[in-house]
Amino acid sequence: MASEKPKYTRILLKLSGEALAGKAGYGIDTDILHAIAEEVKEIRELGVEICIVLGGGNIFRGLAAAAHGMDRSQADYMGMLATVMNSLALQDALERIGVFTRVQSAIEIQELAEPYIRRRAVRHLEKKRVVIFAGGTGNPYFSTDTAASLRVFAS
Ligand code: UDP
Repeated sequence: MASEKPKYTRILLKLSGEALAGKAGYGIDTDILHAIAEEVKEIRELGVEICIVLGGGNIFRGLAAAAHGMDRSQADYMGMLATVMNSLALQDALERIGVFTRVQSAIEIQELAEPYIRRRAVRHLEKKRVVIFAGGTGNPYFSTDTAASLRVFAS
C-alpha cells in the first residue's frame, strides 16, 4: 500500500537525556530505554535510515554545575561524557533486540566509540545501521541541540 511507504527515508532523532530518565527524573530507566529501542526498531523496519543525537541532562548539565561554582568548560566536558554514557546505553538496548548500531563520538574515546567521521556515518546509514552521535559538538558552551543541527545538515 502506498500509505505504508515512509515519507522520509533518512531521519535524525534528537532525544534529550530526560527522555531516558523516567519517573525518577535522573539517570537511566532501562524500561524506557527498551521502549525507545523498540520504537527505533519499528521505524528501521520501515526502511528508514536513522541517526540519533542523545543529550546528557539526565546525568549532568554543565550550566547547572557552573552555577554552583565549577569551571564552565570542565563542567561541559562532564556533560559531554554524560551523552557518551547515554549513547552506550541506547546502543546496548538496540543491539539486544537485533538492531545493528555504531556510536560515533565528537570527543575521542576510542575504546568505546568511533570518532565522528561524516562519510563513515553516511556509509553506516547506507548499510542500515543506526548511527548514534555522542559527545555533542565536542565543544564546551554548546548543547546537543546544536550537535543535532550540525549532524542533520551533514548527513
Ligand atoms: N555539552 C557541551 N557541548 C555540546 C553538547 C553538550 O558542552 O556540544 C554539555 C553541556 O554541559 C550540556 C550537557 O553536555 O549541559 C548535556 O547536553 P544537553 O544539555 O544538550 O542535554 P539534553 O538537554 O538534551 O539532555
